[in-house]
Amino acid sequence: MRKTNYSIEATAREEAIQKDHDAAIRRQTVEQYLLNDLAEDERTYFEKHYFECTECADAVAAGQMFVKHIRPATPPKDLGAGILRLTLTV
Ligand SMILES: [Zn+2]
Repeated sequence: MRKTNYSIEATAREEAIQKDHDAAIRRQTVEQYLLNDLAEDERTYFEKHYFECTECADAVAAGQMFVKHIRPATPPKDLGAGILRLTLTV
């Protein structure tokens, strides 16, 4: 079967997306994106990528969900007294 120009272009596009994806994985771009640790041009380039890449889009969404629901760990108010009581009874 002969490839049409459209299918050749589509294949080239998929290969470019895969190449960008491999680079994003290698450079941990999702993590850097979530930490707001990318330069403006890198951020813009990655945003264009993840709109075309379901794997990166899913990773960004999962990371944003995780960050949204994470709470800072605060020790209970009476933790110090509890530790002191344990120390005195041992
Ligand atoms: Zn990707």
